[in-house]
Amino acid sequence: MKNPIIVLIREDLRIHDHPALYAACQEGHVIPLYILDEQASLGAAKKWWLHRNIETYQHTLQSINGRLWLDKGKVEEVLSRWVKNTNAKAVYWNRKYNPDIYQRDRTMAQSLSSQGIQVKTFEGTLLLPPWKIKKEDGTPYKVYSAYYRSLRKEEIPKPLPALKRIEVPQLQDDGMALNELDLLPSIPWFHIMESIWDPGEEAAFKRMSSFFTKRLHDYSEGRDFPGKGQHSTLSPYLALGVISVRSIYHTLIDMESKPIEPFIKQLIWREFSYSALLHYPESPTRPLNEKFAEFHWQSDEEGWKQWTRGQTGYPIVDAGMRELWATGFMHNRVRMIVASFLTKHLLIPWQRGAEWFLDTLIDADLANNSMGWQWVSGSGFDAAPYFRIFNPTLQSEKFDKEGTYIRMWLPELSHLPNRYIHKPSDAPGDVLKSTDITLGVDYPYPVVDHKAARKRALEHYEEIK
Ligand SMILES: Cc1cc2nc3c(=O)[nH]c(=O)nc-3n(C[C@H](O)[C@H](O)[C@H](O)COP(=O)(O)OP(=O)(O)OC[C@H]3O[C@@H](n4cnc5c(N)ncnc54)[C@H](O)[C@@H]3O)c2cc1C
Repeated sequence: MKNPIIVLIREDLRIHDHPALYAACQEGHVIPLYILDEQASLGAAKKWWLHRNIETYQHTLQSINGRLWLDKGKVEEVLSRWVKNTNAKAVYWNRKYNPDIYQRDRTMAQSLSSQGIQVKTFEGTLLLPPWKIKKEDGTPYKVYSAYYRSLRKEEIPKPLPALKRIEVPQLQDDGMALNELDLLPSIPWFHIMESIWDPGEEAAFKRMSSFFTKRLHDYSEGRDFPGKGQHSTLSPYLALGVISVRSIYHTLIDMESKPIEPFIKQLIWREFSYSALLHYPESPTRPLNEKFAEFHWQSDEEGWKQWTRGQTGYPIVDAGMRELWATGFMHNRVRMIVASFLTKHLLIPWQRGAEWFLDTLIDADLANNSMGWQWVSGSGFDAAPYFRIFNPTLQSEKFDKEGTYIRMWLPELSHLPNRYIHKPSDAPGDVLKSTDITLGVDYPYPVVDHKAARKRALEHYEEIK
């Protein structure tokens, strides 16, 4: 047997447009190896999603004559053992940009190279490597619109074709079984997620095609309305690299007659988030706007509990938090509303909300999540100004006028007329009675009064202005 090439599989569980796997397959025997990084903290919901997608990926690789070896531990140590035991001549991977992983991978590459093992790294996460789009003076963009214009002028490489066959060596070491990675919780709380999310490339492409055919034309207007379902729901697939962003981009570019730009803009927000993460690796925990380091956050444990449980008494916030808990996903507009509520109405630090999201979202993505939270709380690049405080009731009236989304997630309010669905505490006693709602029992009173909370948030903001 010729010396094989190990391809480190990470959040790129696909056989189409997989530059590292593609390159290795041109050269001979390949060992696709997934090492669960025991040092990385992975949220519970994403672990479930990862388990399901690894399982499907194993079948996909088998269908093209390949297989996926699994292992876990400290990545550099486990990889080094595999290199030694298999006499691998080279290791290839698609680059990841989470700060710890990026640094670790660079050190690992140096160490392998110094032992005579060839290392090649590829762009498999983004449209372009995150250092590619910079201002003329060589510094990273801090304004999204300028970043977008600059990226849009670039040629984006075409996606590579799906692999048809892969040659894998016979190895004595079978690696671990999927269950040994211990990704599933002991209590199976994921049945709703099971019924919504199909893992794997085929499912991702189906979702994309269905979105492009049926909903893309209305995306620009519809994307802000959580009850309309006009968004793509592709983020869980992008988060594990089950579909490549270049494939999505080029499928769009090839559709001449459709309004593609609003969707491309969102894909480019993702690129912008990754650029921020690479250039400001502390951004998941430190405010990008230094002023906010002085902000006086509160530790409102009761408020926190009610927010996480979807029991704040603001239906749009509660519907969002319950959608998150049940499905591992939340609509973008609602993410903004719940994040604003946590940071401005409850004055709870955005970092705590960001951690909760990383634990409960199946599309948990450090770059997008940090950008989203910093943007909402006012401390990010090109962020919403802190003093612009969403009124959750008005947001709800504007973006979920008929209460379709609220009714879906708060069945206890489903019979309330549209007029009161956004703020049940305004409903007269006879309306509550006729719809079987006792406030404080079936549905909570608002945890804070909007006007008072707004005033308090602005006072806090004045202190750092
Ligand atoms: C507080 C907060 C936290 C967030 N956390 C995450 C996260 O952990 N993971 C994540 O993928 N997204 C996150 N987002 C961004 C956005 O909400 C999701 O990407 C989007 O809701 C996913 O749904 P979709 O695939 O239907 O999006 P679509 O509207 O169909 O957009 C298509 C794709 O574009 C990208 N995109 C869309 N909006 C954004 C955005 N605002 N920023 C960056 N990329 C975007 C995503 O990759 C998305 O899949 C967060 C936003 C906020 C406000």
